[in-house]
Amino acid sequence: MLQEVERTAGGVTTQVLTVFLAGSECPFTCVFCDLWRYTLDEPTPGGAIPRQIERAFEETGPLPESCRLKLYNASNFFDRRAVPAADIPAVARLVAPFSRVVVECHPRLVGGDCVGFSKAIGGTLEVAMGLETVHPKALPRLNKKMSREDYDRAVGELAARGIAHRAFVLVGAPFVPPDAMVDWSVISAAYAMDRGAETVTLIPVRAGNGELDRLAAAGEFRRPTLGEAEAALERSLQLPGKAVVQLDMWDLETLSSCSHCFGHRQERLERINLTGAMEPAIDCTECGGES
Ligand code: SF4
Ligand SMILES: [Zn+2]
Repeated sequence: MLQEVERTAGGVTTQVLTVFLAGSECPFTCVFCDLWRYTLDEPTPGGAIPRQIERAFEETGPLPESCRLKLYNASNFFDRRAVPAADIPAVARLVAPFSRVVVECHPRLVGGDCVGFSKAIGGTLEVAMGLETVHPKALPRLNKKMSREDYDRAVGELAARGIAHRAFVLVGAPFVPPDAMVDWSVISAAYAMDRGAETVTLIPVRAGNGELDRLAAAGEFRRPTLGEAEAALERSLQLPGKAVVQLDMWDLETLSSCSHCFGHRQERLERINLTGAMEPAIDCTECGGES
């Protein structure tokens, strides 16, 4: 569970409660994904999801009326193996007080269940979807079993039902030439914004899921540096439109090779995530702010 403040597409900041749900593993096996570490091999037992949400709310205590809720299950909320259909009414009742509920889902699983859940909750539904990259050669090789057309279809369906969406875009997607990784992150962020994403979250690819190590050895993958992650954020923020662009800060320290400037650079990125306003780069006498 995590409580944080996030900038919204309306330009204000709001409190967000993220509840990490333990449930069944995602049926897709994207080469860059390490979320299976947090999932179960078997279908999620009935009643487990509502119980986890209840427990999280008990631990959290009172929240402001404007608070938003993220229900992240390291899989797909609308995969019935992950969130049993019989539990949906109970989940909808539990989340009713929140102004907005964000769930994550593969674009190909966006459909009727999404619409039903949207109608059942009190607030606005937002679906977070991994676009990852629109690089035409890399996307088909990510093993996500998704095309740009699948993403476009899901976005169209959500928009027609008044459901918001946010996009996850990778920085350092495998099979994207490393020296073009920043360009392709920006192109992919622009693609999502053009299709109405209210928020674009740039996610530096994390190492160590086994498959990525193999791809790195084969020259098909290199982790971004902190400088590349910063550049992806800075350039995406310059794109036209009102979408919120933010950089995912999970494991950020593992991208840095300079302990001298890392703390200042992390604080700068946290501020930019919150304000959306550019700031001068951090100068470093050790690495020149390049590492
Ligand atoms: S669809 Fe999402 S959760 Fe499933 S393997 Fe791909 S990145 Fe991981
Ligand atoms: Zn430095």
